[in-house]
Parts: sequence; C-alpha cells; structure tokens
Amino acid sequence: MRAEGLSRRYNGVAVLHDLDLAVEAGGVTAVLGPSGSGKSTLLRLIAGLEPNDDGSVWVAGRDVTRLSAHRRGVGLVFQDHALFPHLDVRANIAFGLVEAGWSRARQQERVEELLRDLGLELLAARRVDALSGGERQRVALARALAPRPAVLLLDEPLASLDRALRERLAEDLEARLHQSDLASVLVTHDLDEAATVADQLLLLRAGRSVQRGPAEALVRDPVDAWVARFVGHPNVYEGAAVAGLPLEGGEAAWLRDDLVEVLSADDRHTPSVEARLLRLRPQRGGLRLDIEVPAWDVRMVWRGATRELPAGLRSGDMLRLVVPTAAWRRLPNALPPDAEANSGRAAPREAAQT
Ligand code: ADP
Repeated sequence: MRAEGLSRRYNGVAVLHDLDLAVEAGGVTAVLGPSGSGKSTLLRLIAGLEPNDDGSVWVAGRDVTRLSAHRRGVGLVFQDHALFPHLDVRANIAFGLVEAGWSRARQQERVEELLRDLGLELLAARRVDALSGGERQRVALARALAPRPAVLLLDEPLASLDRALRERLAEDLEARLHQSDLASVLVTHDLDEAATVADQLLLLRAGRSVQRGPAEALVRDPVDAWVARFVGHPNVYEGAAVAGLPLEGGEAAWLRDDLVEVLSADDRHTPSVEARLLRLRPQRGGLRLDIEVPAWDVRMVWRGATRELPAGLRSGDMLRLVVPTAAWRRLPNALPPDAEANSGRAAPREAAQT
C-alpha cells in the first residue's frame, strides 16, 4: 500500500502534514509517536474511516482515495478488539464475510481455515465475552483477515494486555504478518513492540514524519535530540558546553552509555574520569546506574550487565569512567512539538539528517 501527501485538518488546525508511507506486501511498518502526534488519524485516513484533506491512498496498485472504508480492501484490528460479545467466535470471524455477500460454503471454508491457522478450533463455539484478552486478540485478527484484505491496519492491538502476554503476542504477530502477502501498518506508542513486530518504523511528531527506518537505525542514529530521547536514550544534554564539548546554539550532546566503561576507583591504568555512583538498581535485562561526574558537572545513566562492573558496587561508591571520544555525539536540537505544531513552519526533520 501507498499513501502520498496525506494531510488532515480539524477546524483549520493541521494534525497530519503531507505524509508519505509505502509498505510492501509482506512488510510491516509501525507508526510510532507520542500521544496526539497523529498516529490514529493516519490509520483512519488509510482505512477511509474519515476523509483526508489532501493526498491519496493506494491499495494493491489501485487508487482508493475516493472509496468508502469497506470497499478499500483493508482489514482493521482495534485496541479494544471491537468484537460482538454476544456472538460466538465463529460468528465473529464470519461477520465481514456475511456483510460482503460470500456464499455460505465459502464462508464456512474460510472460517474453518482461520480457526485452524490461529489455533482457535477449540474455542469456535464459545461466546467472545468468555475469552481471555489474548484469545480475543486472535479472534479480532481472524475477523480482520477473513475477507483476505491486501492491507491490515492495527491500532494498538496489544495495548490492553499485560506485559508478558504482550511480548508473546508481539512475536506471534511478527511471524504471522511477515509470512503473508499482506501489507501491514501497526500503530503503537511502544518502541519494543514496534521493534518486535515491524521491519520499518515511522516516527511522528506533531503530525509530521521525523524519522523512518528499521528500529536499530533509529536507536543507533537518531536524527535529533528529541528522537534520541524518544527511543529511550537517557543521556541527552543541552547547554553552551557539556563535559568540555562546546555546543552551538540549537545543538545537544548525546552520551552513549553503551560505549562507557565503568572501572573501580583505584583502577588507574586507562585514561578515565572520576565519578560517583548515586544509585544502583535492577531494570529489565540488567542494571541501571545513576552516576555523577563532578569534573563535568554532569549526571548520567549507565545500563548494562553485572559482569561488566567492578565487584561489590554500592550506592555512594567512587568510580572511574572510561569515556571514549566516540561516546559523545552532537545532535540537532528539535523544537518542542507544540512549538513546531503552532509555528506553522515547514521544517521536515529529515532535513536535519546528515
Ligand atoms: P495519536 O493517535 O498519535 O494519539 P491522534 O491521531 O488521535 O493522535 O490525534 C492527533 C491530533 O488530532 C490530536 O491533537 C487530537 O487532539 C486531534 N484530533 C483527533 N481527532 C480529532 C477530531 N475528531 N476533532 C478534532 N481534533 C481531533
């Protein structure tokens, strides 16, 4: 599918600006961004649930911009699953096929196929309100896939589930969506989920595309300080100078903690800077250290594994840090999203890419 130059205004205020998106068959693009950045609006425009002000939408080589939602060849999965609670699983999956006028025999064949594919056979006759969150999610997926759409749009499909289940289902979704000849667009605010399910990310800020690419590219090469913070880098600094690194107006400095080595205070072999451990706590997959570097007047976060650290570290301990030059990166500073949205400036962030 392809969307070109999509724009949307509400009461004269633009919430989506000239957005392009292309997803190949078998591809999955995740649309990411903070709340209010226009993710759901983008999905609704592609689905045809509301009209776009400018631009066009193409599905399987066909311009569907003027077609209503049910004629676009697009399947939808919503966060709340929007299933019919009083109907059983089979009837929920068949719903779109009945609407589309499929013959009874073809309906049955397709529903049985989906029940099998999604491991729902034993639940086929169960009412949807007697299913778990994960099971409902699979029914919603089966229902959306039933009429064999060319494009599948998923709006926060895992948001209502607990973390462990979300992680499992994200892996499952990744395998399903990439095996098929569907083009999928997934809206999420969760970078981990986007990185698991999608092969491409599109990051929105205030209705504009800020950066796109595979998840690892956004994490490794954020185009500006805002993106660096959005993808979870904790050490992004502003000011005239940071740690002796002079910054131009509109520049920020990013310290990559993955390139910083933590040594004990008495380790003097390598050029290093003195630091104090303020706090040490476990976090998912490792440890998080809050560290103060008095010589630089900087506080930083280091994340890593216990085995990378001197033994027996405690909060309050002195340390030494090895900080190679390559651990510092200058990044353009982005305007706060509100300033950008209200300024009416045409400043696509890709322009900042080097
Ligand atoms: P996201 O999905 O990223 O949270 P949305 O696409 O829901 O963002 O919203 C983008 C912007 O458009 C927000 O500022 C929101 O308040 C505004 N908006 C969304 N729908 C409407 C509407 N029907 N009328 C007016 N403003 C809307």
